[in-house]
Amino acid sequence: MPNPPGSDSFPVTCGLEVHQQLDTGKLFCRCPTKLSDAPAQTTFHRQLHAVASEFGEFDVAALEAIGKEQTYHYQALHESACLVEADDEPPHGMDANALKTAMEVSLLCHSTLVDKILVMRKTVLDGSNTSGFQRTALISMGGQLELQDGKVIRIQNLMLEEDSCRPVERKDHEVTYRLDRLGFPLIELSTMPDIHSPQQAKETALKMGEILRITGRVKRGLGTIRQDINISVPGGARVELKGVQEVELIDEYVRREMHRQNMLLHVKHELTQKGLTRELIHQQFPLDASPALKGSTSKIIQNGLQNHHSIIALRLPLMHGYMGKEIQPDRRVGTEVSNYVKARAHGMGILHGDELPKFEITAKEVTAVRKLVMANEKDSFALMVGTPERCAKAVEVIKQRVAMLLEGIPMEVRGALEGGNSEYLRPMPGAARMYPETDEQAMVISSQQLQSLQQQLPRFAAQRKQFYVQKGLSEKLAEEMKLDNRARFFERLIEKGYNPTIAATLLLDTLNIVRRENPRVDELNEMQLESLLDAQKSGTVLRDQFVEIVKAWASNPHYTLTELLHKLNFQNASSEEVNQIIEQIVEKNMALVIVKKMDAQTPLMGHAMKALRGKASGQTIAAALQAAIKKRI
Ligand SMILES: [Zn+2]
Repeated sequence: MPNPPGSDSFPVTCGLEVHQQLDTGKLFCRCPTKLSDAPAQTTFHRQLHAVASEFGEFDVAALEAIGKEQTYHYQALHESACLVEADDEPPHGMDANALKTAMEVSLLCHSTLVDKILVMRKTVLDGSNTSGFQRTALISMGGQLELQDGKVIRIQNLMLEEDSCRPVERKDHEVTYRLDRLGFPLIELSTMPDIHSPQQAKETALKMGEILRITGRVKRGLGTIRQDINISVPGGARVELKGVQEVELIDEYVRREMHRQNMLLHVKHELTQKGLTRELIHQQFPLDASPALKGSTSKIIQNGLQNHHSIIALRLPLMHGYMGKEIQPDRRVGTEVSNYVKARAHGMGILHGDELPKFEITAKEVTAVRKLVMANEKDSFALMVGTPERCAKAVEVIKQRVAMLLEGIPMEVRGALEGGNSEYLRPMPGAARMYPETDEQAMVISSQQLQSLQQQLPRFAAQRKQFYVQKGLSEKLAEEMKLDNRARFFERLIEKGYNPTIAATLLLDTLNIVRRENPRVDELNEMQLESLLDAQKSGTVLRDQFVEIVKAWASNPHYTLTELLHKLNFQNASSEEVNQIIEQIVEKNMALVIVKKMDAQTPLMGHAMKALRGKASGQTIAAALQAAIKKRI
């Protein structure tokens, strides 16, 4: 995505890409979307011998970053993976709810749905898909969303795709994956590069999040939504920042990336003025620094010498003061170079002149190394310890990255770090080649289906809140309900005439309380929850009993309410039983009643509630208590 013409007049240009997991079934099989860390029931492994020519258009550097020989281990549980995930069976049709959700989001963004949905295969090299490709389908194109100040952000497109396996362990040439996450439906919603400030980036992400959440069919919690940001400053190049998890920090990520890019442009300008050239960098040659450092007490050096590793120094001409230049909080040009080396030269670490003396390497030893590489006061140097092959590779990569400082900002994919910084991940890939998925038939969206979706589109959050308050819900409950996954169910309940406050209390408070103890509470379906409201309406159960009943139900979610109440031997106390218990309590506390008169009601209410918990409503108990006290004073 090149920057649009005229974008240089803005301090920054961004596009956003949001990946949201859906809370439906898996996209291409009928397994549930459920993650678990229980011991694996099935394991298998595969090997990948990547030869660049096999992958035609793939960037050789990307292959290099993955490593040429890899073994992938896969772990599965029968409850969350079948033969489709193991790639032993062709995909089944698309999950209807996932597709419906993708279409709804498209309509909410005013996007144009495609006439025919075609499932495509996108080649994946890192073993995160057992089949070697990811299935993805274009659902809609174009459209827009509007920010609070009226600013319009255009939508590029919406894809519906399958999530990859979940990595659980990474070693040098091995990765272990879990199959449970493979096949989770993901909506990928991307904007055009219409965003021109950190604040706008955050607002856009929040708006996209709202549109996804009001469908009521998205996963919630850490790792269920991920944003990628394309960022460039004037005179720079596009950088893709991947995997931002916290939407609240998006503005900070953009701000720090702007700063990094502007600092790199500044460094480019200064180094060019000082006369640094690519030729000068590539003329430098590695030198053996072990004689200069053989007496060092530094652990890094000592370990290297003991393991018969090479200790190599490389002069970095005119770089004194630049390696140590801060470009993001606590990250320097030297950090950029060393991350690049780590990624491209298999985890190799380097030290540089601007950060030494440090790591028990003394000032005297630094002087000796500087003398060795013939560095003058304007020069810096890099120092590394490792096998001769790895050092040779690292030297090449250091030269490459330092030479790139003369270009300014390299086009690259960066990984989001906690707090707002980022680090080099891989070079910017070319457009991935896609092939049609021959096992899935193209699907045509009927105008009838489209019309019915259009008529039942969910309300936006602000509209919802207003509507709920108008229906008598408290501000607090309305605020909580507006982005809850069950909000649309709640609205249907109000339409049917259920009391909004009682319904909201059940869907928010009761379910939340029980969920902390038993997440299976979410297996209760709408029909079951509605039957509980019916029972409350008819007086069979009391509102105070919701938590107790739902707790028991969460352990037996396949029961109907009638079956559950029968099993619990659930009975309400008759009014005689209530009166009898209240009489006993008042008799026992006559001293208090004589002194406090009607005011004794408050302390005695606690005793009464405890004795009658789950058997009578608070209202009934209070009335009986009041009568019993009145009789005696
Ligand atoms: Zn499956």
